[in-house]
Amino acid sequence: MNASCPPCHHLHPTGNRCGSPALRGEQFCFYHHPTRRPPVRTRLSNPPFYVPPIADPETLQIALSEILRRVADKTLDTRRARLLVTTLEMAKDNLPSYLNQSAPSPDLRP
Ligand SMILES: [Zn+2]
Repeated sequence: MNASCPPCHHLHPTGNRCGSPALRGEQFCFYHHPTRRPPVRTRLSNPPFYVPPIADPETLQIALSEILRRVADKTLDTRRARLLVTTLEMAKDNLPSYLNQSAPSPDLRP
């Protein structure tokens, strides 16, 4: 690397410099230049869908909320969402019976 082609100033998380030639008159290479547009978000760039172990109504609600959110932001297709909801219905039926019972209503009689 010579003075007419200085290296990119970007530091990788490891502390190493990028090493690519910087753009003419700039401090960064093409890839690390601040004006570079971020890559287009694709379906593969979505974070993985973590389904918690369904052990109680709260985790069931969390999983349902995540499915709803992903359908709403169009990162989960309805066919897959339907499959997940059906599976969660089975998980709900397998919860211990005492969790499926509603709490006794309080006696409001005077
Ligand atoms: Zn660079």
